[in-house]
Amino acid sequence: MTRLDVTAEPAAVESAAECDGPRTVLMEARQVPLGGLRAMDVRRSLPQRDLPLIGAWCFLDRFGPQETVMRVDPHPHIGLQTVTWPFVGEVRHRDTLDNDVLISRGQLNLMTAGNGIAHSEYSTGDGPIPLDALQLWVALPESRRHGVPAFEQHTALPTVDFAGGGTATVVLGEFAGVASPASAYTPIVGAELNLPAGEAVLLPLRPEWEHGVVGVFGDVTVAGTRVAPDQLLYLGIHRDGVLVEAETDATIFLLGGEPFEDDIVMWWNFVGRTHEEVVEAREAWEARDARFGDVPGHDTRIPAPEMPHVRLARRRRRI
Ligand code: MN
Repeated sequence: MTRLDVTAEPAAVESAAECDGPRTVLMEARQVPLGGLRAMDVRRSLPQRDLPLIGAWCFLDRFGPQETVMRVDPHPHIGLQTVTWPFVGEVRHRDTLDNDVLISRGQLNLMTAGNGIAHSEYSTGDGPIPLDALQLWVALPESRRHGVPAFEQHTALPTVDFAGGGTATVVLGEFAGVASPASAYTPIVGAELNLPAGEAVLLPLRPEWEHGVVGVFGDVTVAGTRVAPDQLLYLGIHRDGVLVEAETDATIFLLGGEPFEDDIVMWWNFVGRTHEEVVEAREAWEARDARFGDVPGHDTRIPAPEMPHVRLARRRRRI
């Protein structure tokens, strides 16, 4: 189709598969308040206005580094997995499956919401502690999103060593032929890369997947573009590798996967396909329906916000 209009706004494409080719698009995180009465600020790198998904990854928050009290009371999720990956500090996770666990550096907390789960996240102790972590969401495919909720904790994740001293930890999915033991439902990669100052490494990528990297610590150049902490560099699809050069000791997080099967509707803590599904999930939470249940040990829960006065639309990419 020929576009006769020339505007700054590129046309939405029909699906990720039509977003065809390598990209180097640098995106900034934005500051967002999180949680109920005692909100803390997080920096959100995904979704972006023009980029709702990278593979099945649909959300990326970083909280920290900061010294704070984290009190995120029980709240529901549907249609997604939460991937919690701490750098500093200890967080207590409780959920409606009666899990009550602590999570710290090197451990993956993976919660698969399926048709519905609720959880709380508290920092340990009563006072402020140093905290820093990523929390990502993975959209579940049609084949899994209506299923039962589940929770996993992984303390021994596989690593890949690079020749120059760097290391990749495979958190979810598969990287360089090495697979994480964590449950994944679409072809995907989530990996933490640690590089010493001066190392340059050509990361192997699957050309049929799209990828991005987010800066965590230090100064790196990826595909010729400087990526500072919390910046997200979208790399597009059809690359079989990408050059990463560390100017200082550096940590980045690689995310990618097969372009997701569908456009998604994302609102509050819900990932679905239609406005009606989200309304139904919201009403079930507000009615304290057994779909979500109760998180043991809590008197309070986070109430759902009011629905907007417009119908929720599926999110489409524009790059
Ligand atoms: Mn949550």
